[in-house]
Amino acid sequence: MPEETNGAVVEKVSGPLVVATGLTGSKMMEMVRVGEQGLFGEIIEIKAGRYFIQVYEETDGVGPGAPVVPSGQPLSVELGPGLITSIYDGVQRPLEKLAAQFGDFIVRGAEQPALDREKQWAFEPAVKVGDTVSAGDVLGAVEETPLVIHRIMVPPGMSGTVKAIEAKSATVEEPVATLTTDDGNVDVTMLQRWPVRRPRPVARRQNPTNPLVTGQRILDMLFPLVKGGTACVPGPFGSGKTVVQHQLAKWADAEIIVYVGCGERGNEMTDVLLEFPHLKDPRSGRPLFERTVLVANTSNMPVAAREASIFTGIAMAEYFRDMGYDVALMADSTSRWAEAMREISGRLGEMPGEEGYPAYLTSRVAAFYERSGRCVLLGGDEREGSVSLIGAVSPPGGDLSEPVVQATLRVVRVFWGLDDRLASQRHFPAINWLTSYSLYQSEVDAYGQREIDERWAANRTEALGLLTREAELEEIVRLVGQDALGANDRLTLQAAKMIREDFLHQNAFHEIDTYTSLQKQFLMLDVILAFYRQAQTVLEAGASFDALTELSVLERIARAKYITEEDGVPTEAFEKLKAEVVEQVTGLAPAGAKEGSAA
Ligand code: ADP
Repeated sequence: MPEETNGAVVEKVSGPLVVATGLTGSKMMEMVRVGEQGLFGEIIEIKAGRYFIQVYEETDGVGPGAPVVPSGQPLSVELGPGLITSIYDGVQRPLEKLAAQFGDFIVRGAEQPALDREKQWAFEPAVKVGDTVSAGDVLGAVEETPLVIHRIMVPPGMSGTVKAIEAKSATVEEPVATLTTDDGNVDVTMLQRWPVRRPRPVARRQNPTNPLVTGQRILDMLFPLVKGGTACVPGPFGSGKTVVQHQLAKWADAEIIVYVGCGERGNEMTDVLLEFPHLKDPRSGRPLFERTVLVANTSNMPVAAREASIFTGIAMAEYFRDMGYDVALMADSTSRWAEAMREISGRLGEMPGEEGYPAYLTSRVAAFYERSGRCVLLGGDEREGSVSLIGAVSPPGGDLSEPVVQATLRVVRVFWGLDDRLASQRHFPAINWLTSYSLYQSEVDAYGQREIDERWAANRTEALGLLTREAELEEIVRLVGQDALGANDRLTLQAAKMIREDFLHQNAFHEIDTYTSLQKQFLMLDVILAFYRQAQTVLEAGASFDALTELSVLERIARAKYITEEDGVPTEAFEKLKAEVVEQVTGLAPAGAKEGSAA
């Protein structure tokens, strides 16, 4: 039974929405407890003394007259050691702990702190007594898992001189340092709270410049994402969405992964909960879970919690960014999240916009993606961190013109168009190179040219050009047949096919093929283009096209994806291959035309 009822009571209940009166003094976004069970809820509208509360739990059994207790706090997350390896629901309740305590279904109103209160962490100071520190400065750190050093920072809004600090074993609630501030001495614990709907402050935002390398060739080479960037991926069933997500989680060069699952079909989330903890971090060989936080909304959880889950996830992602990490947050699916918004809005009786979604759909979607970014962080050390956001959308019937997809495409800068047609041809990753795009191309081109090879951008443009030309030529072939094409066009088709099959096609389950460094990606594409250019020259000199397609070096190009990177970038192997390409192709030129080599 809640303590201070304050006289506030439920007036009416409509699914996850409760209307209450008497909550004088309560504000928008304040958390309240509803009914005898003390169900969690959040005030989402105040109209003429009536308080509209979205409740994060089933409201069965709550009726008019039931007590409502204000908390004075907005919906917040707990931040501190213990986040990593946790599985939370949409309002950061630890699912595993609740399951252990109450069995598989959660007792309503059940309270379990997000962070373990008993666990001791070995705190190592990074500053000493007498040091002046301000918000964001790193006071010390604990080893949260073998893969994550969790930095303990001065909370936003606080500054002062270190009065006491020492290496010690402490729980998240025990002070690890004392600061002398303008308001007197303040104990600092490893636990911070942060309202989920408010972005955490940073010193300043920077333009993203560095790619988020995924090791997936079609992504890195053709449609790159940057650290601090945003991407959207539609997920038709069976198109390989799960594999893409797993590949990103495993291979993207982000230190921390936050995965927010918004209940798709009932058992889909269960799959995620079962699979994710067992993925292996390929670089360390340890469980990937040791650098992951999971937020899971199964479909049997109320829609309101789903609405909150995206913000719960991003607040945690920002917190790890603040430590100086590159964080990647994956949300799957944001369509389910938007549907939750639609349901709540409908119950509020708001004027519906397109397809019943609230008019603020676009701004709410934007508010989420705008929390991505590469930032210089608070604190004197000018450290940087980033949050990259990858949102899956699952539009009904795969219709990309529907409101959630459109609202998303308006704000995200990368689109990876997963395509069930490609998947059914077993071309994986089934990302359509004709519909996908990245607006970070110029940033990544500059990086590629600087760090990998000066021909990075030119090669990429040429490859995309060939793929586009292939689509046009295929149209012509469909209309008038293969014979209508000249040798040059047939060479274009041949080169595009090699780009598709020997470069873009990538087997996530092959030990070597599963990941390709940027250097090797460049070399692989470069050798295909070398073939193409050299072939152009010999065709002009009168060589036969059919002879080109019979060269034994084509098989070696096809197998180049399996060249190992165990001993570093295989530059030598590719140089040999390229020399072989030039030699074999040039050998086809009719006698007397063999001089001018183009590659
Ligand atoms: P979805 O989640 O979209 O329903 P999955 O990600 O489970 O689809 O992919 C379905 C199947 O497609 C996988 O079991 C796998 O056999 C195949 N597949 C998807 N992506 C790849 C890939 N990159 N490499 C190899 N096989 C893949």
